[in-house]
Amino acid sequence: MVNQEKKLRDGACISPWQLAGKDLVSHSTDQKKHETFDTIIIGGGITGLTTALLLQQCGKKCIVVETKTIGFGTTGGTSAHLNTFFDATYADIESDFGKEESKLVAKAGKEAMAMIKKLATDLAIDCDLAVKDGYLFAQDEKQVEELSKILAASKRAGIEVTETAEICVPIPFQSAIIFTGQGQFHPIEYIQKLAVAFIDLGGVISENTFVNEVEKKGDLYHATTPNQVFTGSKLVYATHAVPGVNAFSFKCAPYRSYVLGVTLKDDHYPEDLAYDMMEPYHYFRSHEIDGQSYLIVGGEDHKTGQGDPTQAFESLETYIKQYFNVKEVAFKWSSQYYIPTDGLPYIGPSPALADAYVATGFNGNGMMFGTLSAMIISDDILNKKNDYAALFSPSRIKPLAGLGEFIQENANVAWHFISDRFKTEEIAKLKDIPNDTGQVVEFEGEKLAVYKGPRGKVTALSPVCTHAGCIVNFNPEEKTWDCPCHGGRYDIEGNVISGPPLRKLARYK
Ligand SMILES: Cc1cc2nc3c(=O)[nH]c(=O)nc-3n(C[C@H](O)[C@H](O)[C@H](O)COP(=O)(O)OP(=O)(O)OC[C@H]3O[C@@H](n4cnc5c(N)ncnc54)[C@H](O)[C@@H]3O)c2cc1C
Repeated sequence: MVNQEKKLRDGACISPWQLAGKDLVSHSTDQKKHETFDTIIIGGGITGLTTALLLQQCGKKCIVVETKTIGFGTTGGTSAHLNTFFDATYADIESDFGKEESKLVAKAGKEAMAMIKKLATDLAIDCDLAVKDGYLFAQDEKQVEELSKILAASKRAGIEVTETAEICVPIPFQSAIIFTGQGQFHPIEYIQKLAVAFIDLGGVISENTFVNEVEKKGDLYHATTPNQVFTGSKLVYATHAVPGVNAFSFKCAPYRSYVLGVTLKDDHYPEDLAYDMMEPYHYFRSHEIDGQSYLIVGGEDHKTGQGDPTQAFESLETYIKQYFNVKEVAFKWSSQYYIPTDGLPYIGPSPALADAYVATGFNGNGMMFGTLSAMIISDDILNKKNDYAALFSPSRIKPLAGLGEFIQENANVAWHFISDRFKTEEIAKLKDIPNDTGQVVEFEGEKLAVYKGPRGKVTALSPVCTHAGCIVNFNPEEKTWDCPCHGGRYDIEGNVISGPPLRKLARYK
């Protein structure tokens, strides 16, 4: 495994993007702490930084507040394909939202792609941005039928796509289609330069700053952090999951996806992007870093806190080795995404808070939808009309679209809320727990989430997630406590590292 100096991410595994670029200078906000901002943006991923830059470019005074460092969240753990087709297929979007809406989604995807290209060009960002084709391939009769529906609906939506007899990966298939005009880039190089451009325009970034409370007093939002309070007229939750218990806790289901970056013995790295149609699907691309090519393959997704991360990595490695001549697994990492129940993300004014905005439920397409969010939200703040605002509105009501998923996901949450309370193993001695593992146990009458470090140091926490009270599970790969209900995640000290919780896990001596 590669072992180099790295930037922070919300897990112990290392993505290749973490090794890139220089750390941003620490953006001390001391001299600015009494300033009132036009907009407070919580979250320093692609969504937060693009929003901040677009607003600052139009003369607004903005601050980005980030728990850790830029790219700490999923933007540092993505696979960074840039697509104008999405996890919700155009066939699904047509049937759930309508034909005109499907065309609008396609147009929005193209505009988001154009925005990424424009920012990369205008700011001369060296982020390996490249135009690629995207191959989607079917491997059995059912998939062939589904693929032909996707092809027809994508064409009707206005997407450039055709059938193809060849694909860019050495995997057997029955039929395939090729989307032209797709792309890829280095996500951290990209957002770091957005951050630099934002700062150059007078924007402020406060890293290592967790916003644990937000309150509106009169016309101003007060975002409280452990050391200071930031005030601003508008507030954007660019936090991926919307913090706290709110409607989005029920409308967006948290999933983890697993990715390997491998070197090959024979240099047959795919030139383009590829996707199979398995459930969950695999995604493929290559990236060159410091003169070394890597094949990047992802998949094996499961609901957060409900699968076996070690098994997921093993299955992915076995799968890749079936088709590629793997030399070394150089990177392995996992990251979190949120599936919206009706298929489209929720972007725009918060249904619950005046002058606040949300951007969530991006599924595996957040490079595009994060950028689109920045466009929709900045337009609203700047009082500009945006053609996509109504379609992606967080307040939209689609009673039938996604109803099945809504019921299924929330029944799953209810089941875990109750059943996980009875699964705890009683142990007599903490020493029974092996080193470098975590376990939820019953010890001397208390339920504890116990992590024992590599040298036997014990950290005991309450296993009750501070978001909605479910019992967390240990993730042995990322060394985190993951909640199976709404995807709250904590480090081994109990600090919130992602998802909707706002308070750390209680600690026992
Ligand atoms: C394995 C994987 C592969 C993917 N591949 C692709 C792909 O190929 N193409 C694509 O388009 N999309 C992909 N996605 C999805 C995409 O990566 C994400 O949707 C996107 O990165 C989300 O960006 P974001 O800025 O909204 O959130 P994040 O990058 O998660 O940023 C949110 C930030 O908010 C901060 N934060 C949260 N709460 C607080 C708080 N209270 N106070 C202060 N800061 C806070 C977090 O620390 C975090 O840095 C993938 C996702 C996964 C999991």
